[in-house]
Amino acid sequence: MTVQDFLDERIRLPSPPAIALKILEAVRQEDNSFDDLAEIVMTDPALVARIMKLANSSFYGLPNRVDSLAKATTLIGIQNLKNIALSFVIIKDFQDAPQGSFDLNVFWKRAVCSAVSAEVLASHVEHKDHDIFISALLQDIGILVMFLSDPSTYTELLDTKRISGKSICEAEMEYFGTDHAEIGSYLLGTWNLPETITGPILYHHSQEPVDTHRNSSMILGFADKIAAIYHGTQSNRKAIEVRQGLKRLYHFQDEYIDGIIDTIGDKSREVLEFFAIPPGDMKPFSQIMQEAVEELGRLNFSYEQIVLELKQAKHNAEQLAFNLKKANDKLRELAFRDELTGLYNHRYFQEFIESEVKRAIRYKHPLSLLLIDIDYFKSINDTFGHIAGDKVLREVSQVMVRLVRQNDMVARYGGEEFAVVLPETGQVGAKVIAQRLRRGIEQLQIQQGGQPLSVTVSIGMASTDMANLEAAREALIAQSDRALYRAKRNGRNRLEI
Ligand code: GH3
Ligand code: MG
Ligand code: MG
Repeated sequence: MTVQDFLDERIRLPSPPAIALKILEAVRQEDNSFDDLAEIVMTDPALVARIMKLANSSFYGLPNRVDSLAKATTLIGIQNLKNIALSFVIIKDFQDAPQGSFDLNVFWKRAVCSAVSAEVLASHVEHKDHDIFISALLQDIGILVMFLSDPSTYTELLDTKRISGKSICEAEMEYFGTDHAEIGSYLLGTWNLPETITGPILYHHSQEPVDTHRNSSMILGFADKIAAIYHGTQSNRKAIEVRQGLKRLYHFQDEYIDGIIDTIGDKSREVLEFFAIPPGDMKPFSQIMQEAVEELGRLNFSYEQIVLELKQAKHNAEQLAFNLKKANDKLRELAFRDELTGLYNHRYFQEFIESEVKRAIRYKHPLSLLLIDIDYFKSINDTFGHIAGDKVLREVSQVMVRLVRQNDMVARYGGEEFAVVLPETGQVGAKVIAQRLRRGIEQLQIQQGGQPLSVTVSIGMASTDMANLEAAREALIAQSDRALYRAKRNGRNRLEI
């Protein structure tokens, strides 16, 4: 399945802010791009003021005072000017989005810190990429898109990720069949952002990025970790990971790395101001590191040891969480089962059919329901006793489970009545399955006191079809119930639709 297929079904792609399009358009026309860009930026005096402030901040550390857009452009370059203007309008646009359980402020704070980290790191490793700031800033925009499209699913996904220890991309794949790197890259592509931005975003979690984007996507990866030091929940662990990673890759010394991360913290505060995002409680890195070192000292461990310890602890916690989830799943499963027959119970049936009706409407797929009632069951009880009756219920249940498909759901609706939900199945297919069940049960020979006993069932069936998609759960149940009643009245051991 391609990203596009998914986007059509589940994920709403936001359109770019109008002003962002103008900025991109202005810069694309080579000759007088500055004039055009300046004209657009000037329409927002707040933006001009902020750009001036940023140009004079330690983020750029320019020797001369910048007092005009033109001067800013010559000093920081038109590409950079374009990117900061673009970042500004995009973040502003998303700040108005409804957020619910998702803290947009934290999201953007982290994104800005990541952008600053990428810019600073790129200069330290002499990696030339004009777009690294905005690429890092927008690398996780796919998360926002998924969250805003389907907040409850994304929230559940985050919970699963936390307890299973899966990576964010693995969890996203499981729930959406795609991940935020793919979605983000695809979205920005549709906004006409260049491949120098969409490429590294696509690969920022990848173990094997294509050569052209390898260095940039690696920097995005580090940038994200550094942002997590300042704005995540596991600062100490991330700090140690970053130190080790940068040491291994670029042979930097610890003090040098700490210096870089410290600088990033300071610069982030100024850039956050540019975006009008409150920095909140950003501990200085030296303090974070000191706390980590104190922890080390207390335990009298080396760095390598503590990394091992942390890994082990993480592994144990994940294992525990995994087992807990398994136990919970099992409990949940038990709560949904009927004790006598092992089929799903009435409660699960109601939940299942509700979500199947929703799915059928969303994907415009058919859905059918069978209500099956054993004929003259009372006389079996009366003649052979309750225990024999129970045996009949169990054997009939087993036959049904055997005769339906993997995705069909058989439930005990109550007493000697059963419900079979047939997802993705219209009237023609459902009829085949219903008759197969009716015959299968009719042929069943149940041993009772040395002689075979047979039973028949009456079946009522209802299907949604394309013309009648809004038929709700109640309608489906009511219609198959009426059909079942007809089947009884018309002589039993038969199917009515
Ligand atoms: P019809 O053909 O019209 O469906 O007649 P019927 O006798 O099958 O239907 P009726 O609703 O009159 O009786 C159903 C009987 O099923 C009554 C009830 O005691 C029995 N029953 C319900 N649950 C159980 C169970 O768990 N075990 C047993 N052995 N019998 C049950
Ligand atoms: Mg009956
Ligand atoms: Mg009955």
